[in-house]
Amino acid sequence: MRTDNVECTTFTGWIDPPGDVGSALSGDLACDVAVVGGGLGGMSTALRLAERGLDVVLLETHFCGHGSSSRNAGQLAGGPGGDIQLLNMLHREKLPGIVRFAENAAHHVEDLIERLAIDCDYEPTGNVGAAVSRGQLGRVRRVAKILEKCGAKVELGTSAELGIPRGFLGGLREPVGGTMNPGKFTMGVRGAVLSSGARVFERTKVTDVRTAGDRVAITTPGGRIQARNVVLATNAFGGELSITPKRLSVPIWIGEVETEPIDPERLATLGWTSRSGLVTQHNFMESYRLTNRNTIVFGVRRLERRKTHPLPLKEPGKPLVAELARAFATRFPALADVAAARAWGGWIAITSTWLPLAGRIRDNIYYSIACNGHGLGQAPYLGSLIADRIVDGERHVDLKALWREKPEFGRPMMMGAPGLRTIWAVDRFNDRINGSRRNARRGAAPVNRPRGR
Ligand SMILES: Cc1cc2nc3c(=O)[nH]c(=O)nc-3n(C[C@H](O)[C@H](O)[C@H](O)COP(=O)(O)OP(=O)(O)OC[C@H]3O[C@@H](n4cnc5c(N)ncnc54)[C@H](O)[C@@H]3O)c2cc1C
Repeated sequence: MRTDNVECTTFTGWIDPPGDVGSALSGDLACDVAVVGGGLGGMSTALRLAERGLDVVLLETHFCGHGSSSRNAGQLAGGPGGDIQLLNMLHREKLPGIVRFAENAAHHVEDLIERLAIDCDYEPTGNVGAAVSRGQLGRVRRVAKILEKCGAKVELGTSAELGIPRGFLGGLREPVGGTMNPGKFTMGVRGAVLSSGARVFERTKVTDVRTAGDRVAITTPGGRIQARNVVLATNAFGGELSITPKRLSVPIWIGEVETEPIDPERLATLGWTSRSGLVTQHNFMESYRLTNRNTIVFGVRRLERRKTHPLPLKEPGKPLVAELARAFATRFPALADVAAARAWGGWIAITSTWLPLAGRIRDNIYYSIACNGHGLGQAPYLGSLIADRIVDGERHVDLKALWREKPEFGRPMMMGAPGLRTIWAVDRFNDRINGSRRNARRGAAPVNRPRGR
Protein backbone atom coordinates (compact mmCIF):
# COMPACT_ATOMS: atom_id res chain seq x y z
CA MET A 1 0.00 0.00 0.00
CA ARG A 2 1.31 3.46 -0.91
CA THR A 3 1.46 5.97 1.94
CA ASP A 4 3.62 8.72 0.43
CA ASN A 5 0.75 11.19 -0.18
CA VAL A 6 -1.38 10.48 2.88
CA GLU A 7 -2.91 13.60 4.38
CA CYS A 8 -2.74 13.49 8.18
CA THR A 9 -5.13 15.70 10.14
CA THR A 10 -5.63 16.63 13.78
CA PHE A 11 -9.45 16.52 13.33
CA THR A 12 -11.17 13.77 11.33
CA GLY A 13 -11.30 12.50 7.77
CA TRP A 14 -15.10 12.13 7.81
CA ILE A 15 -16.19 15.77 7.74
CA ASP A 16 -14.94 19.35 7.81
CA PRO A 17 -15.28 21.34 11.06
CA PRO A 18 -18.63 23.19 11.31
CA GLY A 19 -18.72 26.76 10.03
CA ASP A 20 -21.10 27.98 12.74
CA VAL A 21 -19.14 27.39 15.96
CA GLY A 22 -21.04 29.13 18.75
CA SER A 23 -19.72 31.74 21.13
CA ALA A 24 -18.20 31.22 24.54
CA LEU A 25 -19.98 31.72 27.83
CA SER A 26 -19.62 35.29 28.98
CA GLY A 27 -21.06 36.26 32.36
CA ASP A 28 -22.74 34.25 35.08
CA LEU A 29 -25.93 32.20 34.90
CA ALA A 30 -27.96 29.54 36.72
CA CYS A 31 -29.64 26.39 35.36
CA ASP A 32 -31.22 23.07 36.34
CA VAL A 33 -28.49 20.91 34.79
CA ALA A 34 -25.08 21.76 33.35
CA VAL A 35 -23.51 19.17 31.06
CA VAL A 36 -19.74 19.32 30.61
CA GLY A 37 -18.49 17.94 27.27
CA GLY A 38 -20.20 18.15 23.89
CA GLY A 39 -19.49 14.69 22.47
CA LEU A 40 -22.26 12.23 21.66
CA GLY A 41 -22.55 11.46 25.39
CA GLY A 42 -22.94 15.06 26.55
CA MET A 43 -25.05 16.19 23.60
CA SER A 44 -27.48 13.29 24.06
CA THR A 45 -27.78 14.06 27.77
CA ALA A 46 -28.48 17.74 27.06
CA LEU A 47 -30.90 16.98 24.23
CA ARG A 48 -32.91 14.54 26.32
CA LEU A 49 -33.02 16.93 29.30
CA ALA A 50 -34.18 19.78 27.07
CA GLU A 51 -36.83 17.54 25.48
CA ARG A 52 -38.05 16.70 28.97
CA GLY A 53 -38.44 20.37 29.81
CA LEU A 54 -35.40 21.08 31.97
CA ASP A 55 -33.33 24.24 31.77
CA VAL A 56 -30.03 22.79 30.56
CA VAL A 57 -26.66 24.29 29.67
CA LEU A 58 -24.05 22.42 27.58
CA LEU A 59 -20.41 23.47 27.77
CA GLU A 60 -17.80 22.39 25.22
CA THR A 61 -14.11 23.37 24.93
CA HIS A 62 -13.98 23.43 21.11
CA PHE A 63 -17.22 22.71 19.21
CA CYS A 64 -19.73 19.95 19.83
CA GLY A 65 -18.42 16.82 18.12
CA HIS A 66 -14.77 17.82 18.23
CA GLY A 67 -13.77 14.70 20.22
CA SER A 68 -13.76 11.03 19.32
CA SER A 69 -17.48 11.12 18.44
CA SER A 70 -16.72 12.38 14.93
CA ARG A 71 -13.35 10.65 14.59
CA ASN A 72 -14.27 7.01 15.12
CA ALA A 73 -14.53 4.20 12.58
CA GLY A 74 -18.32 4.49 12.42
CA GLN A 75 -18.99 0.89 13.40
CA LEU A 76 -22.18 0.88 15.45
CA ALA A 77 -21.69 -2.23 17.59
CA GLY A 78 -24.61 -4.24 18.92
CA GLY A 79 -22.38 -6.11 21.38
CA PRO A 80 -20.19 -5.08 24.30
CA GLY A 81 -16.55 -4.00 23.95
CA GLY A 82 -13.55 -5.36 25.80
CA ASP A 83 -12.35 -8.93 26.09
CA ILE A 84 -15.55 -10.97 26.46
CA GLN A 85 -13.73 -14.02 27.86
CA LEU A 86 -12.05 -11.90 30.51
CA LEU A 87 -15.29 -10.08 31.32
CA ASN A 88 -17.01 -13.44 31.64
CA MET A 89 -14.34 -14.53 34.11
CA LEU A 90 -14.28 -11.34 36.19
CA HIS A 91 -17.80 -9.88 35.85
CA ARG A 92 -19.99 -12.86 34.93
CA GLU A 93 -23.01 -11.63 36.90
CA LYS A 94 -22.95 -8.27 35.10
CA LEU A 95 -22.44 -9.58 31.59
CA PRO A 96 -26.08 -10.29 30.60
CA GLY A 97 -26.98 -6.72 31.64
CA ILE A 98 -24.06 -5.32 29.66
CA VAL A 99 -25.03 -7.38 26.60
CA ARG A 100 -28.61 -6.07 26.80
CA PHE A 101 -27.33 -2.49 27.31
CA ALA A 102 -25.09 -2.76 24.21
CA GLU A 103 -27.88 -4.11 22.02
CA ASN A 104 -30.37 -1.49 23.21
CA ALA A 105 -27.71 1.21 22.67
CA ALA A 106 -27.43 0.27 18.99
CA HIS A 107 -31.23 0.33 18.61
CA HIS A 108 -31.34 3.68 20.43
CA VAL A 109 -28.95 5.19 17.87
CA GLU A 110 -30.90 3.70 14.97
CA ASP A 111 -34.05 5.30 16.40
CA LEU A 112 -32.22 8.61 16.88
CA ILE A 113 -31.07 8.59 13.24
CA GLU A 114 -34.66 8.05 12.15
CA ARG A 115 -36.32 10.43 14.61
CA LEU A 116 -33.92 13.30 13.92
CA ALA A 117 -33.76 12.42 10.18
CA ILE A 118 -29.95 12.41 10.24
CA ASP A 119 -28.36 11.67 6.87
CA CYS A 120 -25.25 9.73 7.97
CA ASP A 121 -25.01 6.95 5.37
CA TYR A 122 -26.11 4.37 7.93
CA GLU A 123 -26.14 0.77 6.70
CA PRO A 124 -27.67 -1.79 9.13
CA THR A 125 -25.18 -4.48 8.13
CA GLY A 126 -24.21 -5.74 11.57
CA ASN A 127 -20.53 -6.19 12.41
CA VAL A 128 -18.30 -9.26 12.33
CA GLY A 129 -15.68 -10.32 14.86
CA ALA A 130 -13.40 -11.64 12.12
CA ALA A 131 -10.69 -14.27 12.58
CA VAL A 132 -7.35 -14.08 10.77
CA SER A 133 -5.99 -17.37 12.19
CA ARG A 134 -7.16 -20.70 13.54
CA GLY A 135 -6.39 -19.40 17.04
CA GLN A 136 -8.73 -16.48 16.43
CA LEU A 137 -11.41 -18.86 15.10
CA GLY A 138 -11.22 -20.69 18.42
CA ARG A 139 -11.64 -17.40 20.19
CA VAL A 140 -14.76 -16.41 18.23
CA ARG A 141 -16.34 -19.80 18.96
CA ARG A 142 -15.75 -19.34 22.70
CA VAL A 143 -17.00 -15.75 22.60
CA ALA A 144 -20.11 -16.81 20.66
CA LYS A 145 -20.98 -19.34 23.37
CA ILE A 146 -20.65 -16.73 26.11
CA LEU A 147 -22.69 -14.13 24.22
CA GLU A 148 -25.43 -16.62 23.38
CA LYS A 149 -25.66 -17.61 27.05
CA CYS A 150 -26.15 -13.93 27.84
CA GLY A 151 -29.04 -13.70 25.39
CA ALA A 152 -27.26 -12.12 22.40
CA LYS A 153 -28.04 -13.03 18.80
CA VAL A 154 -24.85 -14.12 17.02
CA GLU A 155 -24.05 -16.02 13.87
CA LEU A 156 -20.88 -18.10 13.35
CA GLY A 157 -19.71 -18.76 9.82
CA THR A 158 -16.97 -18.99 7.26
CA SER A 159 -15.99 -15.91 5.32
CA ALA A 160 -18.17 -17.04 2.40
CA GLU A 161 -21.15 -17.65 4.70
CA LEU A 162 -20.75 -14.26 6.38
CA GLY A 163 -20.10 -12.41 3.11
CA ILE A 164 -16.74 -11.03 4.25
CA PRO A 165 -13.44 -10.90 2.34
CA ARG A 166 -11.51 -14.16 1.86
CA GLY A 167 -8.46 -12.72 3.63
CA PHE A 168 -10.39 -13.54 6.83
CA LEU A 169 -11.10 -17.15 7.76
CA GLY A 170 -14.56 -16.60 9.19
CA GLY A 171 -16.00 -15.19 12.34
CA LEU A 172 -18.89 -14.15 14.48
CA ARG A 173 -21.55 -11.81 13.16
CA GLU A 174 -23.46 -9.53 15.52
CA PRO A 175 -26.53 -8.72 13.40
CA VAL A 176 -27.56 -5.65 15.41
CA GLY A 177 -25.87 -2.38 14.36
CA GLY A 178 -23.93 -1.49 11.23
CA THR A 179 -21.75 1.24 9.78
CA MET A 180 -22.19 4.97 9.23
CA ASN A 181 -20.31 8.21 8.67
CA PRO A 182 -19.87 9.15 12.37
CA GLY A 183 -18.94 12.74 11.51
CA LYS A 184 -22.28 13.29 9.78
CA PHE A 185 -24.13 11.53 12.60
CA THR A 186 -22.43 13.63 15.28
CA MET A 187 -23.11 16.86 13.38
CA GLY A 188 -26.75 15.75 13.05
CA VAL A 189 -27.00 15.38 16.82
CA ARG A 190 -25.23 18.74 17.20
CA GLY A 191 -27.85 20.35 14.93
CA ALA A 192 -30.63 18.86 17.06
CA VAL A 193 -29.16 20.06 20.34
CA LEU A 194 -28.50 23.55 18.93
CA SER A 195 -32.13 23.86 17.89
CA SER A 196 -33.45 22.41 21.16
CA GLY A 197 -34.14 24.48 24.27
CA ALA A 198 -30.63 23.73 25.60
CA ARG A 199 -28.27 26.69 25.95
CA VAL A 200 -25.04 25.60 24.23
CA PHE A 201 -21.70 27.33 24.79
CA GLU A 202 -18.88 26.20 22.52
CA ARG A 203 -15.28 27.48 22.85
CA THR A 204 -15.94 27.17 26.61
CA LYS A 205 -13.60 25.01 28.64
CA VAL A 206 -14.72 24.16 32.15
CA THR A 207 -11.78 24.62 34.49
CA ASP A 208 -13.38 23.75 37.82
CA VAL A 209 -16.44 21.97 39.19
CA ARG A 210 -17.20 22.03 42.90
CA THR A 211 -20.08 21.72 45.35
CA ALA A 212 -21.45 25.05 46.64
CA GLY A 213 -24.19 24.41 49.22
CA ASP A 214 -27.00 22.53 47.48
CA ARG A 215 -25.76 23.71 44.06
CA VAL A 216 -22.71 22.99 41.94
CA ALA A 217 -20.41 25.86 40.95
CA ILE A 218 -18.79 25.62 37.51
CA THR A 219 -15.95 27.88 36.46
CA THR A 220 -15.03 28.77 32.89
CA PRO A 221 -12.65 31.51 31.66
CA GLY A 222 -15.57 33.81 30.72
CA GLY A 223 -18.13 33.18 33.43
CA ARG A 224 -19.55 30.96 36.16
CA ILE A 225 -22.60 28.74 36.40
CA GLN A 226 -24.67 27.68 39.39
CA ALA A 227 -26.42 24.39 38.58
CA ARG A 228 -28.71 22.09 40.56
CA ASN A 229 -27.08 19.09 38.86
CA VAL A 230 -24.00 18.53 36.74
CA VAL A 231 -23.19 15.72 34.32
CA LEU A 232 -19.55 15.14 33.41
CA ALA A 233 -19.32 13.70 29.89
CA THR A 234 -15.69 14.57 29.32
CA ASN A 235 -14.51 11.18 28.01
CA ALA A 236 -10.69 10.92 27.86
CA PHE A 237 -10.26 14.54 29.01
CA GLY A 238 -11.77 13.96 32.47
CA GLY A 239 -8.34 13.95 34.14
CA GLU A 240 -8.10 17.70 33.52
CA LEU A 241 -10.75 18.34 36.18
CA SER A 242 -9.81 17.68 39.79
CA ILE A 243 -13.37 16.49 40.56
CA THR A 244 -13.03 13.48 38.22
CA PRO A 245 -12.57 10.32 40.31
CA LYS A 246 -9.00 9.02 40.39
CA ARG A 247 -8.41 6.07 38.05
CA LEU A 248 -11.85 6.43 36.40
CA SER A 249 -10.13 5.78 33.08
CA VAL A 250 -6.86 6.10 31.22
CA PRO A 251 -6.56 8.20 28.04
CA ILE A 252 -5.52 6.21 24.98
CA TRP A 253 -4.93 7.54 21.47
CA ILE A 254 -5.85 5.42 18.44
CA GLY A 255 -5.64 6.10 14.72
CA GLU A 256 -7.61 5.50 11.50
CA VAL A 257 -6.57 5.49 7.84
CA GLU A 258 -8.80 5.78 4.76
CA THR A 259 -7.84 4.50 1.31
CA GLU A 260 -8.26 6.42 -1.89
CA PRO A 261 -11.54 5.57 -3.74
CA ILE A 262 -11.32 2.05 -5.16
CA ASP A 263 -12.91 0.93 -8.42
CA PRO A 264 -16.26 -0.70 -7.43
CA GLU A 265 -15.48 -3.66 -9.70
CA ARG A 266 -12.29 -4.34 -7.75
CA LEU A 267 -14.18 -4.02 -4.47
CA ALA A 268 -16.76 -6.50 -5.76
CA THR A 269 -14.03 -9.14 -6.23
CA LEU A 270 -13.35 -9.15 -2.46
CA GLY A 271 -16.55 -11.08 -1.70
CA TRP A 272 -17.52 -8.48 0.91
CA THR A 273 -21.20 -8.91 0.02
CA SER A 274 -22.55 -8.35 3.55
CA ARG A 275 -20.69 -4.99 3.83
CA SER A 276 -20.49 -5.74 7.59
CA GLY A 277 -17.83 -3.85 9.53
CA LEU A 278 -14.96 -6.10 10.66
CA VAL A 279 -12.91 -6.25 13.83
CA THR A 280 -10.16 -8.85 14.18
CA GLN A 281 -9.69 -10.92 17.31
CA HIS A 282 -6.23 -9.63 18.21
CA ASN A 283 -5.76 -8.37 21.75
CA PHE A 284 -5.68 -4.94 20.11
CA MET A 285 -8.11 -5.28 17.26
CA GLU A 286 -7.69 -4.15 13.70
CA SER A 287 -10.89 -2.73 12.21
CA TYR A 288 -11.90 -2.58 8.54
CA ARG A 289 -15.05 -1.19 6.95
CA LEU A 290 -16.38 -0.11 3.59
CA THR A 291 -17.70 3.40 3.08
CA ASN A 292 -20.26 4.72 0.62
CA ARG A 293 -17.47 6.67 -1.09
CA ASN A 294 -15.93 3.36 -2.24
CA THR A 295 -13.07 3.54 0.23
CA ILE A 296 -12.04 1.32 3.13
CA VAL A 297 -11.41 2.84 6.55
CA PHE A 298 -9.15 0.82 8.82
CA GLY A 299 -7.40 1.35 12.10
CA VAL A 300 -6.46 0.75 15.75
CA ARG A 301 -3.91 -2.17 16.12
CA ARG A 302 -1.69 0.02 18.32
CA LEU A 303 -2.73 1.93 21.46
CA GLU A 304 -0.77 4.97 22.66
CA ARG A 305 -0.97 5.99 26.30
CA ARG A 306 -0.62 9.50 27.65
CA LYS A 307 0.00 9.94 31.36
CA THR A 308 -0.32 13.69 31.74
CA HIS A 309 -3.03 16.22 30.97
CA PRO A 310 -3.92 18.26 28.99
CA LEU A 311 -4.11 15.83 26.07
CA PRO A 312 -2.56 17.24 22.91
CA LEU A 313 -4.23 17.55 19.51
CA LYS A 314 -2.42 14.84 17.61
CA GLU A 315 -2.15 13.60 14.06
CA PRO A 316 -1.00 10.07 13.19
CA GLY A 317 2.76 9.75 12.72
CA LYS A 318 4.30 8.09 9.66
CA PRO A 319 5.29 4.87 11.54
CA LEU A 320 1.67 4.27 12.61
CA VAL A 321 0.31 4.91 9.11
CA ALA A 322 2.98 2.57 7.67
CA GLU A 323 2.12 -0.14 10.19
CA LEU A 324 -1.62 0.08 9.50
CA ALA A 325 -0.91 0.08 5.75
CA ARG A 326 1.18 -3.12 6.08
CA ALA A 327 -1.66 -4.79 7.97
CA PHE A 328 -4.12 -3.66 5.27
CA ALA A 329 -1.94 -5.19 2.54
CA THR A 330 -1.84 -8.50 4.47
CA ARG A 331 -5.62 -8.65 4.95
CA PHE A 332 -6.38 -7.39 1.39
CA PRO A 333 -3.53 -8.68 -0.81
CA ALA A 334 -5.57 -7.93 -3.95
CA LEU A 335 -5.60 -4.23 -2.95
CA ALA A 336 -1.96 -3.97 -1.92
CA ASP A 337 -1.32 -1.31 -4.61
CA VAL A 338 -4.11 1.01 -3.37
CA ALA A 339 -2.95 4.29 -1.78
CA ALA A 340 -3.77 5.59 1.68
CA ALA A 341 -5.48 8.98 1.22
CA ARG A 342 -5.93 10.35 4.73
CA ALA A 343 -5.31 9.52 8.37
CA TRP A 344 -6.53 10.84 11.70
CA GLY A 345 -7.08 9.69 15.26
CA GLY A 346 -8.53 10.55 18.61
CA TRP A 347 -8.53 10.04 22.36
CA ILE A 348 -10.66 7.40 24.00
CA ALA A 349 -11.04 6.56 27.68
CA ILE A 350 -10.38 2.99 28.77
CA THR A 351 -11.84 1.99 32.11
CA SER A 352 -10.06 -0.57 34.28
CA THR A 353 -12.89 -3.09 33.78
CA TRP A 354 -13.23 -2.30 30.04
CA LEU A 355 -16.91 -1.71 30.85
CA PRO A 356 -18.95 1.46 30.37
CA LEU A 357 -19.55 3.15 33.70
CA ALA A 358 -21.89 5.70 35.23
CA GLY A 359 -22.61 6.98 38.70
CA ARG A 360 -22.48 9.95 41.00
CA ILE A 361 -19.45 11.66 42.53
CA ARG A 362 -21.73 13.54 44.93
CA ASP A 363 -25.52 13.66 45.17
CA ASN A 364 -25.88 16.08 42.28
CA ILE A 365 -22.70 15.44 40.24
CA TYR A 366 -23.08 12.60 37.72
CA TYR A 367 -20.51 11.12 35.38
CA SER A 368 -20.73 8.76 32.46
CA ILE A 369 -17.99 7.09 30.51
CA ALA A 370 -19.08 4.68 27.84
CA CYS A 371 -16.14 4.38 25.56
CA ASN A 372 -13.68 1.52 25.51
CA GLY A 373 -13.96 1.86 21.74
CA HIS A 374 -17.72 1.24 21.68
CA GLY A 375 -19.07 4.69 22.47
CA LEU A 376 -20.68 5.44 19.12
CA GLY A 377 -23.76 3.57 20.30
CA GLN A 378 -23.17 3.43 24.02
CA ALA A 379 -22.32 7.08 24.77
CA PRO A 380 -25.62 8.50 23.37
CA TYR A 381 -27.70 5.79 25.01
CA LEU A 382 -25.98 6.20 28.37
CA GLY A 383 -26.38 9.98 28.04
CA SER A 384 -30.13 9.70 27.60
CA LEU A 385 -30.43 7.18 30.49
CA ILE A 386 -28.60 9.59 32.81
CA ALA A 387 -30.93 12.40 31.73
CA ASP A 388 -33.94 10.21 32.57
CA ARG A 389 -32.33 9.28 35.90
CA ILE A 390 -32.07 13.00 36.77
CA VAL A 391 -35.65 13.80 35.72
CA ASP A 392 -37.39 10.69 37.12
CA GLY A 393 -35.12 9.99 40.09
CA GLU A 394 -35.22 6.32 39.08
CA ARG A 395 -32.63 4.13 37.45
CA HIS A 396 -33.55 2.45 34.15
CA VAL A 397 -32.88 -1.30 34.25
CA ASP A 398 -30.13 -0.88 31.61
CA LEU A 399 -28.20 1.40 33.96
CA LYS A 400 -27.99 -1.28 36.64
CA ALA A 401 -25.02 -3.20 35.27
CA LEU A 402 -23.04 0.01 34.69
CA TRP A 403 -23.89 1.94 37.82
CA ARG A 404 -21.17 2.43 40.45
CA GLU A 405 -22.48 3.08 43.95
CA LYS A 406 -19.12 4.57 44.96
CA PRO A 407 -16.75 6.46 42.65
CA GLU A 408 -13.81 4.19 43.45
CA PHE A 409 -11.88 2.39 40.77
CA GLY A 410 -9.11 -0.17 40.59
CA ARG A 411 -5.74 0.39 38.98
CA PRO A 412 -5.97 -0.46 35.26
CA MET A 413 -3.88 -3.51 34.35
CA MET A 414 -1.31 -3.47 31.53
CA MET A 415 -2.32 0.06 30.54
CA GLY A 416 1.11 1.65 31.03
CA ALA A 417 3.34 2.12 28.00
CA PRO A 418 5.35 -1.11 28.69
CA GLY A 419 2.12 -3.13 29.12
CA LEU A 420 0.67 -1.79 25.86
CA ARG A 421 3.93 -2.54 24.01
CA THR A 422 3.94 -6.09 25.39
CA ILE A 423 0.36 -6.79 24.30
CA TRP A 424 1.11 -5.35 20.84
CA ALA A 425 4.22 -7.56 20.62
CA VAL A 426 2.17 -10.67 21.52
CA ASP A 427 -0.24 -9.83 18.67
CA ARG A 428 2.68 -9.42 16.23
CA PHE A 429 4.28 -12.68 17.41
CA ASN A 430 1.01 -14.53 16.78
CA ASP A 431 0.68 -12.85 13.38
CA ARG A 432 4.18 -14.03 12.45
CA ILE A 433 3.45 -17.62 13.50
CA ASN A 434 0.18 -17.60 11.57
CA GLY A 435 1.93 -16.06 8.55
CA SER A 436 4.51 -18.89 8.54
CA ARG A 437 1.78 -21.51 8.91
CA ARG A 438 -0.13 -19.95 6.01
CA ASN A 439 2.98 -20.04 3.86
CA ALA A 440 3.62 -23.70 4.80
CA ARG A 441 0.04 -24.57 3.81
CA ARG A 442 0.21 -22.64 0.52
CA GLY A 443 -1.10 -24.85 -2.24
CA ALA A 444 -3.35 -26.86 0.07
CA ALA A 445 -7.13 -26.31 -0.07
CA PRO A 446 -8.25 -23.81 2.61
CA VAL A 447 -10.25 -25.27 5.48
CA ASN A 448 -12.05 -22.24 6.75
CA ARG A 449 -15.28 -23.33 8.38
CA PRO A 450 -15.28 -22.66 12.12
CA ARG A 451 -15.83 -25.94 13.92
CA GLY A 452 -18.70 -26.52 16.32
CA ARG A 453 -21.48 -24.72 14.46
C1 LIG B 1 -10.12 6.47 16.13
C2 LIG B 1 -11.32 6.01 16.91
C3 LIG B 1 -12.08 4.95 16.43
C4 LIG B 1 -13.22 4.53 17.13
N1 LIG B 1 -14.04 3.61 16.57
C5 LIG B 1 -15.25 3.34 17.15
C6 LIG B 1 -16.21 2.55 16.49
O1 LIG B 1 -16.04 2.15 15.34
N2 LIG B 1 -17.36 2.25 17.15
C7 LIG B 1 -17.63 2.74 18.40
O2 LIG B 1 -18.67 2.43 18.96
N3 LIG B 1 -16.75 3.57 19.03
C8 LIG B 1 -15.58 3.88 18.43
N4 LIG B 1 -14.72 4.74 19.04
C9 LIG B 1 -15.06 5.27 20.36
C10 LIG B 1 -16.13 6.36 20.30
O3 LIG B 1 -15.82 7.31 19.32
C11 LIG B 1 -16.21 7.04 21.66
O4 LIG B 1 -16.39 6.04 22.64
C12 LIG B 1 -17.36 8.03 21.76
O5 LIG B 1 -17.34 8.94 20.71
C13 LIG B 1 -17.28 8.74 23.10
O6 LIG B 1 -18.19 9.82 23.10
P1 LIG B 1 -18.08 10.90 24.25
O7 LIG B 1 -19.16 11.87 24.07
O8 LIG B 1 -17.97 10.21 25.54
O9 LIG B 1 -16.64 11.57 24.04
P2 LIG B 1 -16.06 12.67 23.02
O10 LIG B 1 -16.66 12.59 21.68
O11 LIG B 1 -14.58 12.57 23.11
O12 LIG B 1 -16.54 14.03 23.66
C14 LIG B 1 -16.03 14.55 24.85
C15 LIG B 1 -16.09 16.08 24.69
O13 LIG B 1 -15.91 16.67 25.96
C16 LIG B 1 -15.21 17.90 25.74
N5 LIG B 1 -14.59 18.27 27.02
C17 LIG B 1 -13.75 17.51 27.76
N6 LIG B 1 -13.39 18.17 28.88
C18 LIG B 1 -14.05 19.36 28.84
C19 LIG B 1 -14.06 20.48 29.72
N7 LIG B 1 -13.32 20.53 30.83
N8 LIG B 1 -14.84 21.55 29.38
C20 LIG B 1 -15.60 21.52 28.25
N9 LIG B 1 -15.60 20.49 27.38
C21 LIG B 1 -14.82 19.42 27.67
C22 LIG B 1 -14.19 17.54 24.66
O14 LIG B 1 -13.71 18.70 24.00
C23 LIG B 1 -15.00 16.62 23.77
O15 LIG B 1 -15.60 17.32 22.69
C24 LIG B 1 -13.55 5.16 18.38
C25 LIG B 1 -12.78 6.21 18.86
C26 LIG B 1 -11.67 6.66 18.13
C27 LIG B 1 -10.86 7.80 18.64
